[in-house]
Amino acid sequence: MAQTTSHALLMDAAQRAVRYLQGVDERPIAPSDEAVARLRLLDRPLPEQPQPDDQVLRMLDELGSPATSASAGGRYFGYVQGGALPVAVAANWLATAWDQNAASATPAPGVAAFEQVALAWLLDLLGLPRDGAGAFVTGASQANFCGLAAARHAVLARAGWDVEADGLFGAPPVTVVISDEAHAAVFKALGLLGLGRRRVVRVPTDAQGRVRLDHWPRMQGPTIVCVQAGHVNTGAFDPIGPVCERAREAGAWVHVDGAFGLWARAAPGLRRWCEGLDQADSWATDAHKWLNVPYDSGLAFVRDAQALRAAMAVTAPYLPPALARGGRSPADFTPELSRRARGVDVWAALSALGRRGVAELVERCCAHARRFAHGVAAAGGTVHNDVVLNQVLVSFTDAATTRRFIDALQADGTCWCGETEWQGRTAMRISVSSWATTDADVERSLAVMRRLAEDGASAGPDPDPDPSLTDPVHLVGETHE
Ligand SMILES: *Cc1c(COP(=O)(O)O)cnc(C)c1O
Repeated sequence: MAQTTSHALLMDAAQRAVRYLQGVDERPIAPSDEAVARLRLLDRPLPEQPQPDDQVLRMLDELGSPATSASAGGRYFGYVQGGALPVAVAANWLATAWDQNAASATPAPGVAAFEQVALAWLLDLLGLPRDGAGAFVTGASQANFCGLAAARHAVLARAGWDVEADGLFGAPPVTVVISDEAHAAVFKALGLLGLGRRRVVRVPTDAQGRVRLDHWPRMQGPTIVCVQAGHVNTGAFDPIGPVCERAREAGAWVHVDGAFGLWARAAPGLRRWCEGLDQADSWATDAHKWLNVPYDSGLAFVRDAQALRAAMAVTAPYLPPALARGGRSPADFTPELSRRARGVDVWAALSALGRRGVAELVERCCAHARRFAHGVAAAGGTVHNDVVLNQVLVSFTDAATTRRFIDALQADGTCWCGETEWQGRTAMRISVSSWATTDADVERSLAVMRRLAEDGASAGPDPDPDPSLTDPVHLVGETHE
């Protein structure tokens, strides 16, 4: 490709992206039915002949851009998705242009160095063991897989079994103790590792979705414990410190799923929810959730670097360790042998925000969530969780009314919240995870919620007020035992 063509094409892409982002706050949050219907124009055979690059890009923009949710803007509160900081998007573009394979420091010393610095900063920021290992992976699903793979290695090695060499057939049984309300991704990781999605000891949970210590099972033999920092519905934290104490006595490995909640460690005002979390053995999180870097950015941390390396390295145990070969070999710690330079986006976000900026981002989202909780309660909703983090679970009179409210809110297009089922209830989940959300975004969204509630979108068949509607909203510090 000629240089000039390449220049024009990349500038065109940048301009289209900028135009997209500039419009993202003024369009309906969900894509229109028409935009989704137009995607059928994509459904055509593989072209026989080459097509001009600029036409390819134009088609991508014209069909693709309108068929997106405006999750890059400030009023998308679906799932726990986060946004992408402009500096992280920009760094991602540049690193994509470099086209480096971040798996190895030898041909790609630059990206390896950025990743190593980013990793050290993360361990510092999150208050995790400084000499722990880290892996830049796709997301928290894969990060949970990595942490649990290291766990599987370590608990079986202690029992005299080499699981990487000999597999699980004939191995000493491993007990997995897990919260009854662990994220589905953790059960999936257990399945991938041959530990079984169902072959686990489930610990019952309390009214916030936290594991109950008074129902903790006796632990004996090789044991892996899975707890969570940040329940996907309530944002609640398991009592990780006390769990770690019990696990230590039993010689068990503790793995923490902190897909978004681990970032509370970066916010001084929230640290009390995750006390003792640093006593665990492995941690999984998503930088694409709350650090607000582009997607495909999960992080696994493991206290015992050797355990992660033993589980992941393609090199055989008889080869000298990476350090002896002159530095950290990134591929020794991840499932992938080839991958993009995920750590560059993380480095850029951390450089731009600094310690204080990350704390402010996280705390700002939590303040927005508390404002939402007060606002929807005043509008007649019932808030079901202690709003300790960035998640608010709200329902109206009954399940059908709640669903009607969610449908009307999504159709209005000012903001977007999703539906969830939690402890037998149908609820709307408001998740505030983006750098882009402002006070004005929250007020604008609340105004619509109030209007819909008044318009009767939330009016149920029963004219008598639900007594629970008069329950006060639970706020940080007010009701926690
Ligand atoms: C999002 C999430 C996951 C899965 O993370 P992915 O990045 O989507 O793979 C796991 N656990 C919790 C608590 C989550 O919120």
